[in-house]
Amino acid sequence: KYFDLIQFSKSLIEEMEPNKKEGQTIKIINKTPFIEVYLDSKLLRHVLSNLLSNAIKYSPVNAKITISITQEEKWISVQIKDQGIGIPVEEQKDIFQRFFRAKNAINIQGTGLGLYIVKQYIELMDGTISFKSNPKEGTTFFIKLPLKPKQNEKNLID
Ligand code: ATP
Ligand code: MG
Repeated sequence: KYFDLIQFSKSLIEEMEPNKKEGQTIKIINKTPFIEVYLDSKLLRHVLSNLLSNAIKYSPVNAKITISITQEEKWISVQIKDQGIGIPVEEQKDIFQRFFRAKNAINIQGTGLGLYIVKQYIELMDGTISFKSNPKEGTTFFIKLPLKPKQNEKNLID
């Protein structure tokens, strides 16, 4: 159940390779070479691949996407940053709702379920998700996840 989040993210980026548009790059920024986490890897994979596929889909060719991973005292924070079309300010409050699609995204394929599921999964992992978006600069999602299992959960499993 413990695994290295850096290696995990690197292989996920490789898996996303075929989805990228021409010239798009995905880079990982990490200060430490390993970050051991105790999380449900299926849920985490789903979350990160959804956010990365949005970053790809809502960004033009040649855009840069970065994932920054930092370990804090009790949390890991993951930021996924793109240089895409952004989310119109007046619609930002709705983006985690089921079937929501922003008006600047109507010509781009999607069902509006991705972020709804992402949010549910983050909550199942006892984490939080927020974002900052600006139609001129792009979008950054901020995830915080617990570094270690809750004490009671750990006792049950170990
Ligand atoms: P899917 O269910 O296939 O993921 P989707 O991408 O439309 O479809 P969500 O991932 O839930 O659905 O995203 C909801 C809406 O939020 C999108 O339709 C888009 O308008 C906006 N959005 C999400 N991520 C980004 C992003 N990185 N940049 C710009 N807009 C975004
Ligand atoms: Mg999506």
